[in-house]
Amino acid sequence: MTLGLVLEEIGRALPGHGFASVRAGVEMALIDAIANSIRLPLWRLFGGASNSITTDITIPIVSPNEAAKLASEYRERGFSTLKLKVGKDLNSDIEVMKAIRSVHPDCEFILDANEGYSANEAVEVLEKLAEMGVTPKLFEQPVHRDNWDGLRQVSDVAKEKYGVSVAADESCRSVDDAHRIVKGKVAHVINIKLAKSGVLGALEIINVARNAGIRLMIGGMVETRLAMGFAGHLAAGLGCFDFIDLDTPLLLSDDPVFEGYEVSGPVYKFTNSRGHGGFLHWSNI
Ligand SMILES: [Mg+2]
Repeated sequence: MTLGLVLEEIGRALPGHGFASVRAGVEMALIDAIANSIRLPLWRLFGGASNSITTDITIPIVSPNEAAKLASEYRERGFSTLKLKVGKDLNSDIEVMKAIRSVHPDCEFILDANEGYSANEAVEVLEKLAEMGVTPKLFEQPVHRDNWDGLRQVSDVAKEKYGVSVAADESCRSVDDAHRIVKGKVAHVINIKLAKSGVLGALEIINVARNAGIRLMIGGMVETRLAMGFAGHLAAGLGCFDFIDLDTPLLLSDDPVFEGYEVSGPVYKFTNSRGHGGFLHWSNI
């Protein structure tokens, strides 16, 4: 039986859990066990390109004042890329960006619409930002995941008219989706999440994207240092991600996982401990 079939069986045996995230968890444990047995840290197992990554940080949907307060705190802590959830209300999104810019003028923006706009609205956002003199470095999933034509239209206009790259996140959940994106030139960037596709699936998508010259982002769901740490090891070791969005452990008030990597502002540095290097404190769960 191949590893893929074993994982599928396990996924089916655990109803109520998203199959992909169960699969990802099992794959992480197996890969960690391999790294441990050959005494390698995960980042070296994945290729050893680097032992560190630099993440962006997310500003949630809040008032302009609150966003400015957070942005100024993140500026102090060394974060230069801020990720904004947008798409609810165009005018308030613009107000929030103006407020952030006033306290963190050099920051770069990643906008994540989480499928919230129509294609026309997405282009309108870029137009308004251009009027403000803001060029986001990435515009993530502007339209609904199944609106392939809309995504391609936004990507074309974003790049040609505004010099902005567009990322497929919810639209890319499998290797088949990745092939579709490549073939139809639907987006410039693919956002990889281990919980969406599993680790092996993610490695396949990464391959497809790299062969086609599509750039890569790595993100996650709301995850602790355990799953995020794994994704961080993978990103550091492969060294092929232009956009790193692995910030949720920084935003969690309680994280039951210790070690695995050292954090200094936006930089995660992985050690030479075997495997993942992090561990759970059972008393904290
Ligand atoms: Mg996203």
